[in-house]
Amino acid sequence: MAIRKIVTKESPILHAVCRPVEHFDEKLWQLLDDMAETLYKAEGLGLAAPQIGIRRRIAVIDVGEGLIEMINPVILKKSGKQRDVEGCLSCPDQWGYVVRPNKCRVRAQNRNGEFYEMELTELGARCACHEIDHLDGKLFLELVDEFVEPGEEA
Ligand code: ZN
Repeated sequence: MAIRKIVTKESPILHAVCRPVEHFDEKLWQLLDDMAETLYKAEGLGLAAPQIGIRRRIAVIDVGEGLIEMINPVILKKSGKQRDVEGCLSCPDQWGYVVRPNKCRVRAQNRNGEFYEMELTELGARCACHEIDHLDGKLFLELVDEFVEPGEEA
């Protein structure tokens, strides 16, 4: 496994729509392992492939309930609303309030290409929506309704 470099918001790849994953091979598994290692090293809650310079529809999240690998994820259903402070590993020192669905149902593929569905709530839903936005070239900054000064994010 290897730590990958996380690109920051100026990078064009973070503003591009990512391509679907078609090959569920060892190269993908290596990438997923690296993404998990990079996520934990950075102490983030989620990481999308474009954040490490890979234009593919892959994201990993861990909101304290174990690692979830999402390949070609699609949000099937959103409900409710939550508003809380959000940040991004690609936007260091920027924090702000974002409204997200409180619950969402996601369909994705696992590392073997098998489809699965999962229901996410609260922080899990926030995190999944944030990462799936990355796959469409969208940053949370566009959704912030109120920025928070660094150091006040807690
Ligand atoms: Zn992010």
